[in-house]
Amino acid sequence: MTGVENQLGADRIANRNRAAAPQEATRIDRIEHWIGGRIDAGSGGGRAGTVYDPASGVAIAQVSFASASDVDRAVASAKIAFEEWGRSTLAKRTAILFRFRELVSGAADDLARTIVREHGKVLADARGEVQRALEVVEFACGIPQLMKGEFSENVSTNVDSYSIRQPLGVVAGITPFNFPIMVPMWMYPIAIAAGNCFVLKPSEKDPSVSMRVAELWQEAGLPDGVFNVVQGDRVSVDRLLEHPDIAAVSFVGSTPIARRIYETGTKHGKRVQALGGAKNHMVVLPDADLELAADSAVNAGFGSAGQRCMAISVLVAVGDVADRLVPLIRERIGALTTGDGMSPNSDMGPLVSRDQLERVKRFVDEGEAAGATVVTDGRDIRVSGRENGFFLGPCLFDHVSPGMSVYREEIFGPVLCVVRTDSYADAVKLVNDSPYANGVAVFTNDGGAARTFQNQIQVGMVGINVPIPVPMAYYSFGGWKDSLFGDAHVHGAEGVKFYTRGKVVTSRWPAPHLRGKNLGFPTVS
Ligand code: NAD
Repeated sequence: MTGVENQLGADRIANRNRAAAPQEATRIDRIEHWIGGRIDAGSGGGRAGTVYDPASGVAIAQVSFASASDVDRAVASAKIAFEEWGRSTLAKRTAILFRFRELVSGAADDLARTIVREHGKVLADARGEVQRALEVVEFACGIPQLMKGEFSENVSTNVDSYSIRQPLGVVAGITPFNFPIMVPMWMYPIAIAAGNCFVLKPSEKDPSVSMRVAELWQEAGLPDGVFNVVQGDRVSVDRLLEHPDIAAVSFVGSTPIARRIYETGTKHGKRVQALGGAKNHMVVLPDADLELAADSAVNAGFGSAGQRCMAISVLVAVGDVADRLVPLIRERIGALTTGDGMSPNSDMGPLVSRDQLERVKRFVDEGEAAGATVVTDGRDIRVSGRENGFFLGPCLFDHVSPGMSVYREEIFGPVLCVVRTDSYADAVKLVNDSPYANGVAVFTNDGGAARTFQNQIQVGMVGINVPIPVPMAYYSFGGWKDSLFGDAHVHGAEGVKFYTRGKVVTSRWPAPHLRGKNLGFPTVS
């Protein structure tokens, strides 16, 4: 594809981003696949999904759903590309990554608008997502340092031993709707930097941004076939999981699908990391700074309308802290504006789909019916000029108990539940009894209590007076228990390890041939 065509792609997306006047009938775009360095219409037999602008509720695009043979073509293209890319120099790969970093940074605003248009989150949040994604590209720019092996001289007479790490080949990523650029970028910058070729299956709900990223990779000089995008549903996922030329699969999404991906992928002999859903608790001890705790609960509970895997959905109030904290949270919720993510006045956008809106409302109904106290009810919200959008206002429950579905299930919406416990020990037990274990936070001014908490809590990512403890790219991200299947977290050193495999070489240069018979196990001499 030429630079002019790339510009056309960018213009097409930019025009769509600008075109969204309220309730305006929009031209329906077709979003295709990206295979072998070009847009590919696929042979999915016309199977497609509808992409909505969640703020207006209007269908804005059709996304093609790949057939198994479309996936096969993408994998074949990646396999051919791997012959060169897997052997390319670290200098070449790093140069392309640096250029890619600059291009993504330059396109950040348009990428963020593309996300808002299909996901619904507010623009500032989408810009933050692009920023966090870029951190992984920056981390991957250091791949020469990250791929270094070890060397031991003279392990035996004139014999040296050294370890190297090599790419796996063709690897796949299957990603959720809620971070359409950041989550895929947890994966492919590191996989590609390490010498692999990548096939991405993004969410069918917000697929456009991955197509723009494909163009940016090409503009950065990435050879055709190294990065591919297949759009679709279960058909494409199933083919990726069983394809003999896919060496590893990274998945991020809900727990039932993550479990299935892990079981099916490993059954087919693949390395799999499958990150699942979450129900993140924020434990507030009586000595905490309650103004900070209230701000944090609102920001982490309702940011992105609660559609973050690290959102706080349960606030565990220890002792009498709820009596003081709940009014502070209610007051702050009252100051939030729910509206179109493109509007600078909006703090919170819509949910991603009508189905998800109805599902979350059902949970709120169930919580009320089960006897939880509805402190703030967002069910009747009306957003002027956006009456068909998928909006739900912030909902706050108090006196929630662990048996209620609002506590047990991952709701993935703007619903914050307050559970009251008598003691610190009860709070820790509550968190540790949850099958989910992605993120957790403790709010306290007692360093000793925080340290004990960090040691006792069985959760992958812990915040101390930090409500959303998303690790930087040079640390690894991942939960425990039903929030992650497999043993590798994403990015950081674990990401590099996941996308490479080790080899240890024992060498003698030059060496006289050992003469004679010796069937014994090699020993040092
Ligand atoms: P999802 O599980 O519905 O979909 C994730 C991906 O799997 C998508 O690409 C989708 O097309 C595909 N998929 C869906 N159903 C499938 C099936 N039956 N067979 C094969 N593939 C299927 O998740 P979502 O609704 O897109 O995203 C929200 C979920 O992702 C939440 O549960 C959230 O907690 C989770 N999430 C977790 C993390 C984490 O780090 N642990 C990060 C982001 C999101």
